[in-house]
Amino acid sequence: MLASPQLRAFNDIRIRFVSGAGRDAAAASGIDVTARLCCDQRGSFVEFVGHFSEGDEAPAPFQEQFYLQRCQIFRIGPSTQLWIVNTVEDEANKAVYPRTFTAEFKSEESSDTFFDAIHSPNKAMKLPNGSTEVAKDSSKFDKKIEASSAKMYFHYYGQLLHQQNMLQDYVRTGTYYAAVVENRADFQGRVVVDVGAGSGILSLFAAQAGAKHVYAVEASSMADYARKLIAGNHVLSQRITVIHGKVEDVELPEKADVLISEPMGTLLVNERMLESYIIARDRFLVPGGKMFPGLGRIHMAPFSDEYLFVEIANKALFWQQQSYYGVDLTPLHNAAFQGYFSQYVQPVVDAFDPRLLVAPPAMHSLDLTSMKEEDLYDIVIPLTFTATMAARVHGIACWFDVLFNGSTIPRWLTTAPGAPTTHWYQLRLVLSQPLYVMAGQTITTRLHLSAHSAQSYTINLSMSTTSWGAGAGQGATIQSSSGKFDLKEPYYRMSQMPAYTWTQEQQLQDGAGVSLQGAQMSPYGA
Ligand code: SAH
Repeated sequence: MLASPQLRAFNDIRIRFVSGAGRDAAAASGIDVTARLCCDQRGSFVEFVGHFSEGDEAPAPFQEQFYLQRCQIFRIGPSTQLWIVNTVEDEANKAVYPRTFTAEFKSEESSDTFFDAIHSPNKAMKLPNGSTEVAKDSSKFDKKIEASSAKMYFHYYGQLLHQQNMLQDYVRTGTYYAAVVENRADFQGRVVVDVGAGSGILSLFAAQAGAKHVYAVEASSMADYARKLIAGNHVLSQRITVIHGKVEDVELPEKADVLISEPMGTLLVNERMLESYIIARDRFLVPGGKMFPGLGRIHMAPFSDEYLFVEIANKALFWQQQSYYGVDLTPLHNAAFQGYFSQYVQPVVDAFDPRLLVAPPAMHSLDLTSMKEEDLYDIVIPLTFTATMAARVHGIACWFDVLFNGSTIPRWLTTAPGAPTTHWYQLRLVLSQPLYVMAGQTITTRLHLSAHSAQSYTINLSMSTTSWGAGAGQGATIQSSSGKFDLKEPYYRMSQMPAYTWTQEQQLQDGAGVSLQGAQMSPYGA
């Protein structure tokens, strides 16, 4: 037999089978191989040669050839490729069974070189379902987000500690679990993409609900832990592929019937991950596919909280000391006061008593199934409230909810004041100049959220009240107040005040016995 001409060889590749039976499944932990690119009369093929060990047994040689015309090869991470090989296993029935494995290269460069090499002898090979290679520098994410912000962000999510914080928000995780398992019909036999999979928990839920296959896409190094966690849940792991990369960049071998994600930050939009969720929808979801969640709503209402106002106003008092260890701090008092109240004010994050609200809330809906990604760059929310009591209004309180519109049982995850507290708590924007209102009086409000490249928003708030009572000019504005806030820098107030807890009576009435256990403040809320 003539030896096939070898075109090139590539070392230090680890392949892992993600589907297939018997030996493939046993080899899921990985086989270190060398890949030889060869060709013969039937065409170009890659031969993987290495050693394969199972348990304590001595390593057995591994050698497999794959003809490129039978392979679909996708780049699913900087140094990882996904191979789907159609192999005729059953000659008698001519049935074709695909085998799927990932190939991990030691570097991005060697993955690139290999990818280019296997395409050059076979340039005509096309990727299915319209996938194209995404050039590394074309990432939509990298274009709009500062590299330093993204680095810190993904470093944060790469730590188990922070994933644990989210997992221990039982209101959050429990609601996702319920939304998935109660809507099995939406997952059974379906292809699912988990957008920002973190620890992989939602992928595991989707697999529990019978998903045919779940692609768990995670940009941070948490992807490695997700792989470990998923591999340890053996029965489910057969149907989950973890892909390390951004949803903006990675390629998937097939379209998804369902997207699942937890992209919500403080005030819903902080972290700008909803944009990634929408990009994932446009890239991966079949038309009419389901999104868990598919709707987000921001709720807002004016509030009155004298304690909070005084607390913030008093912060600058520190700088009024004339002899702080013998140093006069007063030259900076003005700047400090400006900082707390005028320039970029810190939004306050804590759980408050809903009795502080002075008007019924209004809301702004984001239809995640149809909105454009660009719609999230600039969000203007004009609102009109009618005060239900006489009060000094200190600003606006905000929270959000999302809907899992399952076809069996639709379910809401809410972060409202008075509902069981989540790690998102609520957000309050405090004005330097409070407004006095009477019951029945109208409060005209405008909230303007502008996205910035540090994965957050600048918020401009203006509130005004119109004249009231006999003798006042009809409709004339008599008071107004405004503030500018940076959503990136919230003031976590939990250490000052215990979370608002439900009274026993409320719990019994509303059946909301879930309490917050272990949730902590975090700079990111997703
Ligand atoms: N789904 C997990 C984690 C949610 S936190 C859970 O519910 O517990 C959001 C996760 O999305 C983080 O791990 C973050 O690293 C990841 N992420 C954020 N933006 C992403 C993007 N553009 N592409 C891929 N992953 C992203």
